[in-house]
Amino acid sequence: DSTRELLLSRIRDVPDYPKPGVRFKDITPLLADPKAFTALTDALAELSVRHGATKIVGLEARGFILAAPVAVRAGIGFIPVRKAGKLPGATLSQAYDLEYGSAEVEVHAEDLQEGDRVIVIDDVLATGGTAGASVELVRRAGAEVVAVAVLLELGFLGGRDRLEPHLLGAPLEAL
Ligand code: IMP
Repeated sequence: DSTRELLLSRIRDVPDYPKPGVRFKDITPLLADPKAFTALTDALAELSVRHGATKIVGLEARGFILAAPVAVRAGIGFIPVRKAGKLPGATLSQAYDLEYGSAEVEVHAEDLQEGDRVIVIDDVLATGGTAGASVELVRRAGAEVVAVAVLLELGFLGGRDRLEPHLLGAPLEAL
């Protein structure tokens, strides 16, 4: 529809970034366009409400930019999932494999409780590793994941298939 066209038109393809052969999807033109950024925020807030979310988890770093205004718009609390070593309080950690090596995401343990219904928001789903680890983190904190929502899914990387076993039936919503 028209929102989808507007959002797509504000995502820039950057060839050979961050390394040769990779086509990077740059969302900064979308963020700079208040009409597009508002449309995206409204769509994600509508999704969050529709899924009955009680907490919004944003993934560092671009996920923060999208999830924070959604949380304000929807009137739902914002919880950051950060890369290892950035959160000052008691954390839960979840490691995941990268093409070369591994990475780790963390959340403040006290930010999520049993009974919380969480929507996980990020900008781009690529291999699905980040989202999968974040879903596990949320679940280990005792909360339920009701949906994962991203602006863009890079279908050719198979992230949906990699994420699926972690979702336990919750939907992956790619705008
Ligand atoms: P994944 O773990 O391979 O799914 O990678 C997803 C993470 O990498 C997300 O947090 C994205 O922000 C980032 N990412 C991967 N590819 C792109 C891209 O083309 N544009 C913007 N971010 C990307």
